Amino acid sequence: MGKWTQHIAYAFSTFILRRQSPYLFGMVVTDRCNLDCFYCESKNSGDYHFSLDHALDTLREAYARGHRSLYFTGGEPMLWEDGGRDLSFLVAEAHLLGFSDIFIFTNGTVPLTIPGCSYIVTIDGPREVHNRIRGGSYDRVIENVRGAVTQAVFASITFNRENVEYCEDFVEEICALNLFRGISFNLLTHWPEIVESHGIHGEERIKLLDRLWQLKQQGYPIALSGAAYRALRANNFKRPIPQIELGTRDRIFSCCRDVDNPSICANCGYANCVEVSQILALKPSAIWQVMKLTAQV
Ligand code: SF4
Repeated sequence: MGKWTQHIAYAFSTFILRRQSPYLFGMVVTDRCNLDCFYCESKNSGDYHFSLDHALDTLREAYARGHRSLYFTGGEPMLWEDGGRDLSFLVAEAHLLGFSDIFIFTNGTVPLTIPGCSYIVTIDGPREVHNRIRGGSYDRVIENVRGAVTQAVFASITFNRENVEYCEDFVEEICALNLFRGISFNLLTHWPEIVESHGIHGEERIKLLDRLWQLKQQGYPIALSGAAYRALRANNFKRPIPQIELGTRDRIFSCCRDVDNPSICANCGYANCVEVSQILALKPSAIWQVMKLTAQV
């Protein structure tokens, strides 16, 4: 079944038949990482690395549950390997199973050579700020984006207190490079103590969202629909989102790993999840945005 046929069949099942079928599956394929970002406590814990067989079983089971879109994350997913196979093998197997849209969330330090997927590359600010947070990796990342096997490469920033003031500089710098299809973002979420000390809260959160929305109005390619902007700003979207699942080595979570942590979930800053919540709420701006993005990948 082709990609658009799958999307239409899913829309029919969700919006007409009112089924809550899963659709977007994330896989924390490894916790191995070659960077040491201050806000990430998941890296190199040894808790998340999938074996080859387990990874293949997990993909098959996710597809059987109904998922058709897939993303790999980590750690740094491009470092995953087991049984003589690397991530390119899992991407190829996912295509054979029938997954239509496949994304890799990466720090961009490894060449982006796997075909048949889109890349979401974390850039945590303008060059100098990114280098402070991400171990001086900016030039290497940009070089890898330049040499990527696909043009479906998006930049993604995790906003925190270290980089929030550079939001506009970051967007201008990324757009001037003319290498990325668009810019997505998250507000630091997940690790309670780090979110408390380095997250963007209350009025600051609202101000940042307003700044991003203004940039979007100026024509910058920020992945933020009007509906998601309002839902993030009012923090009133329906959560968790059962159509999203996240698989780690030991557990399949509904929505994400913070689903059991009410204080984190109540202030969710995962903008992509908010977009999905707005698509499921049939908000036209969110549907239009995902159609535009999907057409590009
Ligand atoms: S924090 Fe966000 S992504 Fe995670 S479970 Fe809550 S709503 Fe879902």
